Amino acid sequence: MKIAIIGVGSVGSAVATAVQNTGLAHEIVLYDRDGVRARAAAEDLGHASAFSYDIKISAVSSYRAIRGSEIVIIAAGANQKPGETRNDLLQKNAAVISDIIPRVMENTDAKNVKIIVVTNPLDVMVMLAQKLSKLPVSRVIGTGTMLDSARFKIILSRQLGISTRSINSYVLGEHGDSSVINWSAVYVGGIGLDDFCKQAKISLPQTTRNTIEHRVRNAAYEIIQGRGATWDGIGGAVADLLHAIVNDEKRILTVSSVDGVGKNAVAMSLPRVVGNKGILMTLHTKTNSDESNGLRKSAKIIRKHFDLL
Ligand code: NAD
Repeated sequence: MKIAIIGVGSVGSAVATAVQNTGLAHEIVLYDRDGVRARAAAEDLGHASAFSYDIKISAVSSYRAIRGSEIVIIAAGANQKPGETRNDLLQKNAAVISDIIPRVMENTDAKNVKIIVVTNPLDVMVMLAQKLSKLPVSRVIGTGTMLDSARFKIILSRQLGISTRSINSYVLGEHGDSSVINWSAVYVGGIGLDDFCKQAKISLPQTTRNTIEHRVRNAAYEIIQGRGATWDGIGGAVADLLHAIVNDEKRILTVSSVDGVGKNAVAMSLPRVVGNKGILMTLHTKTNSDESNGLRKSAKIIRKHFDLL
């Protein structure tokens, strides 16, 4: 499979490495408006392939060279500087998506191509990419709250002393400050969280839950403060999404996709079944009233930002 990655900064490079390590691609093409950067990334990554899979990796200077790509991953655009929110990137990155999508569509097969959006503010960029590409909503997929869900699961795992693989837990809504921690649908080994805590004699009072929520929502800000940007986590998320698509796993992932039409259209993350045709189904988990209100608030915030474009 040929995969194109547009934007080869911190995130695009980490995504390229993660994609390479899946062994699912026979060819990876890298495009960045900074050609020097793209060529250096392709060179470095090409050297790494000598130690892993035999994959053709090249930097391309024209969109014509992405022809034949079945999946296009968009990781281009400005990232958050310390103190900036994802929504502060709105106008800058809308211009980037508006530049990229028409060129991607001119050079890929609209009947098959799937676009994975990573650029922030994620949900609004998914809406814009879908609108400009005119692709079915099932094939314009945002990484959404995959990373937030992973962060939540890892914190829970440490708190409960249970492997992440035995925990089902989701963060829903906006990939941003209004994300919704779906406590009502946390299951540990198939047992609801409160019941599990009773059986395991673990206390998880509201104050601890509030701290966990704060840590999940602030993880990116803390990483950006210490490291300038975040890239490894999102690289892992894209690789996981790629496995689900390429191997037609029909796995449930909290990805972002456009639901609704016209003025009611909005993209946000819900648990969705993902396979080789893209998003196959959207599911609705158990939510309490705070969580349902939170989802409505998330949708409003995303739609408001989309309408500003
Ligand atoms: P970066 O500044 O390191 O790299 C961005 C790259 O995009 C640069 O190399 C730049 O030349 C390129 N670029 C800009 N405009 C372009 C265009 N029109 N065409 C082609 N290339 C273009 O930034 P980064 O840290 O790699 O972050 C990239 C994006 O990913 C940001 O929007 C960031 O917020 C987002 N991000 C998303 C998640 C997530 O969970 N979805 C996680 C981390 C970062």
